[in-house]
Amino acid sequence: MFYGFFRFFGTGYTVHCFYESYKKDVDVNDYYIDPKKANKERILGLFFLHDALSKPQIAELTGFSLPTINGHMKDLENMGMIGPGELMDSSGGRPAISYRLLPRSKLALGAEIRKDFVKICLCDLKGEVVKLWNIGIEYKNEKAYSAKLNSLLKEAISTCGYPLDNILGIGVAIQGVVNKAGTEIIFSKILDTSELDLEIIKKDISIPVRLCHDVKTAALAELWHNRKISNGIYIAMSEHLGGSLIKSRCIEHGRSGYAGSWDHVTFSNKGKLCYCGKRGCIDTYCNFETLFEGESIPDFFFKLREEKSKEYKVRWSKYLSTIAFGLYQAWLILERRIILGGELAMWLNPEDVAFVENEIINRSTFTCRPGFVIKANVEHHACAIGAALPYLADEIPEPVRPIEGWSTYCKPEIIEY
Ligand SMILES: [Zn+2]
Repeated sequence: MFYGFFRFFGTGYTVHCFYESYKKDVDVNDYYIDPKKANKERILGLFFLHDALSKPQIAELTGFSLPTINGHMKDLENMGMIGPGELMDSSGGRPAISYRLLPRSKLALGAEIRKDFVKICLCDLKGEVVKLWNIGIEYKNEKAYSAKLNSLLKEAISTCGYPLDNILGIGVAIQGVVNKAGTEIIFSKILDTSELDLEIIKKDISIPVRLCHDVKTAALAELWHNRKISNGIYIAMSEHLGGSLIKSRCIEHGRSGYAGSWDHVTFSNKGKLCYCGKRGCIDTYCNFETLFEGESIPDFFFKLREEKSKEYKVRWSKYLSTIAFGLYQAWLILERRIILGGELAMWLNPEDVAFVENEIINRSTFTCRPGFVIKANVEHHACAIGAALPYLADEIPEPVRPIEGWSTYCKPEIIEY
């Protein structure tokens, strides 16, 4: 009612609010919703839910008049967001023209930095990979590496075949925790990133560039492509383990950004030395160096699945069992869905997922309803894809937006201590 009053009368006046709790001036435009803009967004939103729509179908779905629809559709066409497609089937009369979303009207780049390669991917408004570059380049902790990365990103922009105006920004995902603003690395021990310099990485690039934590971007990619997840624990089963917390379809950071770092849960303070400097972290039991004994991932799974090697079965069961043991601790505290992602996600079969879940259920103090452990939907390039997606989210009408943009991601946590 209070906001409704301002929406009705609000035309840009600054109103001093009489409520005791509001000690500052409130701009009524903060609450004003432009009905024309809202209607246009409603029409645009439909194109994220339907492959093709005719104007009469939009009229049926929205209740808007055809002249209103014509005006908004013209605007959306001029913006390059939608375009005409084929004629629709007609049950009599003149067939209507269908319109489609043009997902490549807006694009964003995501880059993943690893020890021996850089992966860059260009994503469209549907979160699909339009182009992918896999560049074999060894990470070196020196300024020259940042300069090389800068030239790789510029090359990707100039050779992708799309104008710079269509590209919204670049997210650079690293194996380390960064601050929420994406300007600083606050923890990175897999790769020494003390010389990695965002100012050099973004030099002469006129679109926004930011840093991000790779396991958090992988979780963002999963959220985008799996609408069933509201709250979850995303884990990356990769060269090193990683974890990310999902709360109300957003990434939960904690006070500094360390929330979800399940990979350093301690199993034994006398265990093997972890790259983080402490002993006995779960990562030391479940990283690739421990699981694989020199063989490649495809070789391991060939011996496991095709040759049905007992030795490999024992190693695999031990790995999954240890993962489940660690996940039980997380589940006990958070009791939410567990998503198994990372490089091994594509190799998981339903029996593996059920094995992890059963291990948790058998250990559990409480009765748990099965079906809470799932395999990630995004099996490839999740870190790089997720680094691009928040730029695109801002272009999508709120009701159909798969994830929130960087601005929401960057909001400070409410700290109670
Ligand atoms: Zn550790």
